Amino acid sequence: MSLRFHALENLAGNGNTEVISTPKITAIFGSNVFTLKTAREFLSDEAYKSLVSSIRSGQKTDRAIANQIASGIRAWAESKGVTHFTHWFQPLTGTTAEKHDSFFTIKSDGTAIEQFEGDALIQQEPDASSFPSGGLRATFEARGYTAWDPSSPAFIMEIGNGKTLCIPTIFVSYTGESLDYKAPLLKALESLNKAAVDVCNYFDRNVTRVTPTLGWEQEYFVIDEAMFNARPDLVMTGRTVYGQSSAKNQQLEDHYFGSIPERVYAYIRDFETECYKLGIPLRTRHNEVAPAQFEVAPIFEEVSVAVDHNSLLMDIMDRVARRHKLRVLLHEKPFAGINGSGKHNNWSMATDTGVNLLAPGKTPKTNLMFLTFFVNTIKAVHDYADVLRASIASAPNDHRLGANEAPPAIISVFIGQYLSKVLSDVKERVSSKFDEQDESMLKIDIHKNIPELLLDNTDRNRTSPFAFTGNKFEFRAVGSSANCANPMTVLNTIMAQTLKQFKEDVDSLIDKGEKKEIAIMHVIREYIVASEKVLFEGDGYSEAWEKEAEKRGLPNVKTTPLALDAMVTDKAKILFESNDVYSHEELEARHEIELEKYIKKVQIESRIMGELATSHILPPAIRYQTLLVNNIRGLKETGLPESAYSNQKQILEKISEHVNSISDLVEKMIEARKTSNNIDNTRAKAIAYQSQVKDKFFDDIRYHADKLELLVDDREWYLPKFRELLFLR
Ligand code: ADP
Ligand code: MG
Repeated sequence: MSLRFHALENLAGNGNTEVISTPKITAIFGSNVFTLKTAREFLSDEAYKSLVSSIRSGQKTDRAIANQIASGIRAWAESKGVTHFTHWFQPLTGTTAEKHDSFFTIKSDGTAIEQFEGDALIQQEPDASSFPSGGLRATFEARGYTAWDPSSPAFIMEIGNGKTLCIPTIFVSYTGESLDYKAPLLKALESLNKAAVDVCNYFDRNVTRVTPTLGWEQEYFVIDEAMFNARPDLVMTGRTVYGQSSAKNQQLEDHYFGSIPERVYAYIRDFETECYKLGIPLRTRHNEVAPAQFEVAPIFEEVSVAVDHNSLLMDIMDRVARRHKLRVLLHEKPFAGINGSGKHNNWSMATDTGVNLLAPGKTPKTNLMFLTFFVNTIKAVHDYADVLRASIASAPNDHRLGANEAPPAIISVFIGQYLSKVLSDVKERVSSKFDEQDESMLKIDIHKNIPELLLDNTDRNRTSPFAFTGNKFEFRAVGSSANCANPMTVLNTIMAQTLKQFKEDVDSLIDKGEKKEIAIMHVIREYIVASEKVLFEGDGYSEAWEKEAEKRGLPNVKTTPLALDAMVTDKAKILFESNDVYSHEELEARHEIELEKYIKKVQIESRIMGELATSHILPPAIRYQTLLVNNIRGLKETGLPESAYSNQKQILEKISEHVNSISDLVEKMIEARKTSNNIDNTRAKAIAYQSQVKDKFFDDIRYHADKLELLVDDREWYLPKFRELLFLR
């Protein structure tokens, strides 16, 4: 029996809907996190104060204090049954990494003790030579080290009965270059903090810290594990490379916000419980548009913590799914023909005085502050649209961006009719000439109920890749499997850069004797004019927009190898270097790593396509051919006229045609891969993989395979069909 039928038969037996009933969320929330409250309990005054100041201001911890903090953390962890610890980090492979060490050690006199010293807390040297480094570490110097990031609290990861203390860290090379997602993110956040505080101080001297905030919305698919195992393409690539759309898809939209199937519901509650213990403030869960698609979203947090929490969530979701004999698919496009998955990044900035900088204020003065940050964001996206596009570029996201139901690869900003009107008013009211200035132009009255106003006009535009949604921007083009750190690093860096320029521009007017508010208004006007063309309120999925965007001169780079170019332009180098986020070398290295990731992913997909074609698609087709041949022969022998088996002959012919086309195309694809592999230059190789392997063959081969799926006897077909993957649970 093929795995497919085995999976189908066993489906009913997988219905584990029992979960340990969860107590009140507040009773478990953060119980596995070394929060400041816990720290208060386990640390001396001195150690506690030092920890707080390294969290708040990134202050270095000296060794003696580090020892105290480490043993406090160990005491807490041991009280919870932990025996091992690990430095937890986010390498550029896109997953999380850990290497467990035990607290257990043997002293020089032979006594066995448990210890966790400051040194082990602060720094470790994982043997990390096989993590991607883009050439930053020559192989003979394959060392990198992980360094404690106190801004993210230590936590305990429970796997089965095992419990491990995880210390969030950054991962850097011995010469100091960052090798992970987290280190540059922290730098970008710091750069934004400085630039934003400076601008805030025009309005409020009391602001001393600005913290960007992130609330992600994670979309995902859930399918039965046995079904998953019967699809080698899902196992290898996270997406189905073959599969005929099922008769029923998402056209009825009956799954969207419908009731969650019981088995999935049990899974969701289970992973939510794990998340609550780790202090991940999940709040919403619901069905998404596509069958078997769901979404989970937390209450927003400061960016660095939110990024860690999303990485942890993806990890936990995967692990807990297996417990339920389910699999979670985080891939951007697991199934052709139905919606893909994204990870909307809701982003704003908060001051230490408690103000959300993207929320309209109550007075003209606070409104001017809102307008400043609002317009600067638009300007940042306008000026650096290409870099922002590069930050979300990946092989899996290419299947989604620009596909019919996902944000296009064109970066534009949606702000809603009401704010469009505000901006055009400002443009008209503020004269571009100084001698015509007038204090009345400062009286900007912005409605406080922006969210409602946005809702009013066409339920906010769901097709925009970057939309203002009332008190935050929502970056929707981020892919579901991505680490949010990359887009967040870029967004916060371009914002920092724009705010710095803004301050320079305003100050130079003030130096010329302009009043502060008037100077600000003038620069805002200038920025509105300069960035108008990135604003778009219409249907982002339409062809008309693609044409319009081209007329406006907005970039529309559809493939990853080309989109990544924006990371290494002179403009990008100046941007990242002047904000202390990436050096030239680091940018070049990252560019190289992203290209290589792309090549490998396409290569793996291409291989699995070829392999499945010969091992899973052709055999049932050929067997069915034999059946038909025998049938025809038998009918012929009985002396029946040809019309009695003409239908069988027709099917036979069609099958032969598809079988031949597949064999032929797969051969050619393998040749194309060989040719591409011989290219030395990484960028050229990535382009070859995209244009000569993927674009040239994938859809074609699939077309014929999917036709066979329709022709061949269902009993013969090996691969679970879309209707089984998506509708049976
Ligand atoms: P939806 O967009 O689905 O209508 P919401 O507007 O309530 O839902 O929020 C979606 C996400 O935006 C949530 O994760 C929420 O925490 C986050 N969010 C809300 N306010 C902010 C903010 N100021 N900064 C960052 N994220 C925010
Ligand atoms: Mg949203």
